Amino acid sequence: MTTTGATTTDGTHVYRFTDGCEDRNILGNKGANLVTMARLGLPVPPGFTVGIDAFQIFASDRGLPDAQIEEALAWLEETAGRKLGKGLTVSVRSSGPVSMPGMMDTVLNVGDRDTLGKSIVEIFQSWNSSRAVAYREINSIPGDLGTAAIVQAMVLGNRGDTSGTGVLFTRNPNTGEQELFGEYLVNAQGEDLVSGTRTPVPLAQLEESQPEVYAELQKLVQGLEEHFRDMQDVEFTVEEGRLYLLQTRSGKRTGRAAVRIAVDMANSGRTSREEALMAVTAEQVRSMLHRTLESPEQHTPFLSGLAAAPGAVSGRVVFNNADARTEAQRGAIILVRPETIPDDIQGIAAANGVLTARGGLSSHAAIVTRAMGKPCVCGAEDAEVDPEAGILRVGDVVVREGDVITIDGDSGNVYQGELPMREGEATPELAILLEWADGVRRLGVWANADTPEMVADAQQFGAEGIGLLRTERQFSTPESLAAIRRFILSETDEDRTIALDHLRELQRKDFVAIFRQLDGLPVIVRLLDIPLHEFLPEGSTEEDTRESQRRDELSEINPMMGHRGVRLGISFPALYAMQVDAIHLAKAEVDANVSVMIPQVITAQEAVHIKGQINHAGLRVGVMMETVRACMRAGRLAQSNDFFSFGTNDLTQAVFSFSREDAEKKFLTTYLEKGILQDNPFEILDVKGVGRLMETAISAARHEKPSLDIGICGEHGGEPRSIQIFHDIGLSYVSCSPYRVPVARLAAAQAAITGKTDESSAAA
Ligand code: PEP
Ligand code: MG
Repeated sequence: MTTTGATTTDGTHVYRFTDGCEDRNILGNKGANLVTMARLGLPVPPGFTVGIDAFQIFASDRGLPDAQIEEALAWLEETAGRKLGKGLTVSVRSSGPVSMPGMMDTVLNVGDRDTLGKSIVEIFQSWNSSRAVAYREINSIPGDLGTAAIVQAMVLGNRGDTSGTGVLFTRNPNTGEQELFGEYLVNAQGEDLVSGTRTPVPLAQLEESQPEVYAELQKLVQGLEEHFRDMQDVEFTVEEGRLYLLQTRSGKRTGRAAVRIAVDMANSGRTSREEALMAVTAEQVRSMLHRTLESPEQHTPFLSGLAAAPGAVSGRVVFNNADARTEAQRGAIILVRPETIPDDIQGIAAANGVLTARGGLSSHAAIVTRAMGKPCVCGAEDAEVDPEAGILRVGDVVVREGDVITIDGDSGNVYQGELPMREGEATPELAILLEWADGVRRLGVWANADTPEMVADAQQFGAEGIGLLRTERQFSTPESLAAIRRFILSETDEDRTIALDHLRELQRKDFVAIFRQLDGLPVIVRLLDIPLHEFLPEGSTEEDTRESQRRDELSEINPMMGHRGVRLGISFPALYAMQVDAIHLAKAEVDANVSVMIPQVITAQEAVHIKGQINHAGLRVGVMMETVRACMRAGRLAQSNDFFSFGTNDLTQAVFSFSREDAEKKFLTTYLEKGILQDNPFEILDVKGVGRLMETAISAARHEKPSLDIGICGEHGGEPRSIQIFHDIGLSYVSCSPYRVPVARLAAAQAAITGKTDESSAAA
């Protein structure tokens, strides 16, 4: 049999586990894994898969392959030694090429041929259920992948005390520790475990009651992990002392566990380091840097549940999905439910954290939030949750809709009000993985930082330099604000000189503190880039006339496209000169590797002009590429500047002619909902517009100066998909906020590995 994508060329659409077809595009992951398990000789109840190719035919209104199903059923009945409905019952489950936990239907206890056909139809139709569609949208899964339907003989876990059913992970999915992690229900079927009607016990109790079964289970699932070279999530049933494995799949895990497992797998030689780097997603790294409570021991929780997904978060309580989606726009929210069901997916996606009264560590809420990297406390059984009344009651404590609570997904505790938090931290395994990433990536990873504290964060996360120090952010203390206001309001040269002397001294002090913290790390200082009127206070009734007159003079209709950046430097030459003098004075005290960057440039003449005004001896001087004209004149700009840094925040505004603030508040959501734009271009780089323009600029610049250093310091610098593009178009480095540096290091390595694979397949 030959296969092409999800179609076979010999008309086969139904595949027995023993047929040998292991194609995931046809069988889906679960189906392919069952075939592998059968091939490995594991105790799998017999069955067959109605393939994704059959789904595609069904989806185009051409029915099911009934004759083939009939034939496979006859074979199944013969293998099981029982007839359907007469001693043999089957389950019908979905199996897609991408895992969508809990989103698709499952039909159990199917007892006759007619119900079997209807059940396969139900599974196929559940591909387009609203919750499955929503899940795919949230997780960017293409809608046309389709699903297979697995028909499998049921084994019975409800045949007394030597029977039961369970689920397990081959490692702890929260920490990645090497231990079996799971739950078991004696004398029960799979649906009893999933529905939460009975509370399962830890797997250790199976070890006590049926040690031989436990030992066999342990051996078999470890073999599965060896085979798939990844942590497995396994469902099993014990029928009167006999163990069956029902399914295995790659287990969902937290970021922390993903990193630990990937590093373990490579260290034990089961995978390569490159495979380890590709096995962890940027999102998983982001989520492990989750917040935790500052000092939980100082606070008394009013409720406790299971620590289902790590991280702590405070937010206003919301009880239903529709409210979650609207309330989330007004700040952090916690979705509180008796339990969650797959239909709650949109509410969970909108919420910052989830609290449920019922459900275990493998409940829907736990699995979905863990994958999304959101804190979750579940199974808080003392809670009475009444969504209709909008009340969460725990003994005497009543929490109403809109009240603020804090949930701690690491301890399972729930507190009233907002608690102080500490930002997430890197584990030793993350440090190892990122070191491997550093050995593979070509892109440099720098950080944007304006204070010594931010520089310290950047260093801790492994930034190679500070790619953007926004000097306007240094004017935030009352003293520095007063000094810049004095400059703006000065009427005489003498007044101006006094103000500038004061400003220079304040900037010198700031630079000294930052340079000390840098400890040799290079820094790119951006000269002032802000409309001056922003430094003046809002008008008040007692305001002196000079202030209001000056604010009127400086006020602009469209300030972000007005008198800012280099335009300001040209109008007020003393300002940039003062800033650069302060850098020299600080450098005389603390040696530092400093470059200076000019913002908002449109023509080479501006940079030439500014260089004539400042003492740039010993400093590299570069320009920000954040106007369309600068990109079109990149060749010329390259001739007279030492480096470029793309400001993709402004460049995106310029290319789209959108103001970021207005776009996000007013119409961008509608554009995204209607599919007019696929992504928010301020979040994910717009490849076709902004990316193309950058590519044009880079090629012109490198034509003039092949070794020109070209970076990017807009928000996109820390966004994984954009980083792939920056790698592809040949940037030298990205610079992003300190907390995004680990993600950027991993994403840059993944871009390099993907690039290598693409090259070798192109060559093949
Ligand atoms: C940019 O425009 O991308 C940039 C980094 O500058 P700012 O965000 O300060 O305008
Ligand atoms: Mg900018």
